[in-house]
Amino acid sequence: MSSTVEAYPPLRVKDRVLMGPGPSPVHPRVLEAMSLPLYGHLDPEFVKLMDETQNRLRQVFRTGNKLTIAVSGTGSAGMEAVVVNLIEPGDKMLVCVNGVFGERMCDVAERARAEVVRIDRPYGEAFTPEEVEKAIKAHKPAVVGIVHAETSTGVWQPVEEIARIAHENGALIAIDTVTSLAGVPVEIDGWDIDAVYSGTQKCLSCPPGLAPVSFGDRAMAKLRARKTKVQSWYLDLTMIEKYWGSDRFYHHTAPISMNYALYEALGLVLDEGLEARHARHMLNHKALAAGIEALGMRYFTQEGFRLPQLNCVVIPDGVEDMPVRKRLLEEWGIEVGGGLGPVKGKAWRIGLMGHGSCPENVRLVLAALETCLRDLGAVKSSGEAVAAADAVYGSA
Ligand SMILES: *Cc1c(COP(=O)(O)O)cnc(C)c1O
Repeated sequence: MSSTVEAYPPLRVKDRVLMGPGPSPVHPRVLEAMSLPLYGHLDPEFVKLMDETQNRLRQVFRTGNKLTIAVSGTGSAGMEAVVVNLIEPGDKMLVCVNGVFGERMCDVAERARAEVVRIDRPYGEAFTPEEVEKAIKAHKPAVVGIVHAETSTGVWQPVEEIARIAHENGALIAIDTVTSLAGVPVEIDGWDIDAVYSGTQKCLSCPPGLAPVSFGDRAMAKLRARKTKVQSWYLDLTMIEKYWGSDRFYHHTAPISMNYALYEALGLVLDEGLEARHARHMLNHKALAAGIEALGMRYFTQEGFRLPQLNCVVIPDGVEDMPVRKRLLEEWGIEVGGGLGPVKGKAWRIGLMGHGSCPENVRLVLAALETCLRDLGAVKSSGEAVAAADAVYGSA
């Protein structure tokens, strides 16, 4: 006899306000697109969708690069795809490290058998073009790798000048835009960037699962001139480009539903307009910053280099990291990120990414933080944080 009790009921999830370093909240239209029936990965309709996705990606990256595709896998797969395709064993790669993702790039480059040279900046600080120039002149790397938006510390790293210096010295430049793309300006052609990767789950407001990647002419020439096979079969762009190109050679089955999601998310980004989207991220950041200041807290990140979408704030003296984040999650459903690496336990990372960058989330997190800190005796304020944010919105 069959039981009427469902032993395995359908999955239900709790409401969450994703305000950490990613994933970010996903627009309902993107979730709906993911629930559509599948096409085969060589279906003419799916092929059309891939072509249009490439068009949209080129607009968001602001590039005309032919090889502009979505690599299967999360942002780290994008990092690995760029590194393993550009690097041949023994190539020198200069990596600028001022956070966890610069560290990761070193690790990936070493595994690709690059001769890695690294320069370091304390976490929370940006590199100056001069110090990168000095290292490029001293080491003459084939490739320079740098993170445009260092999510572990909230640093917004200017890269245009560094790209110019790299080219003057015969090096290629590869940048990590996992957190920057669609949150702050990214100008792949305008800045003359050779190779770039991103991820879907930060300011594109899509679930994690694809990594937009783009290669310019110099990077393509280096790829074409390789004497050795790309170290990774799965991420070998010389094969993957034949699936995204007119040959449509099967390489691996495209994650169909994720491609629907990215297509839809890019449509939302382009409908809003890149400039309007950047301005929205900046306004909500300013409102949050005013509230943070009203709570007597300060930013971990160097002034003048703070990402609007990733607010890294120092945890006040005498306040413990975990109990506050636990309370935010349990009582308000808010997810805020903890510190990574040397910043662990010392800072919170408040994300205002993509669809999640809105006044409602700014007010909610400020009110919740104020309550937590007041109950711990760390602040006396009552309502001042939200009022400070509202003053920014009122004068905008
Ligand atoms: C999140 C992130 C990555 C890694 O992306 P995953 O999707 O976690 O693999 C790489 N670089 C930066 C700057 C990131 O913020």
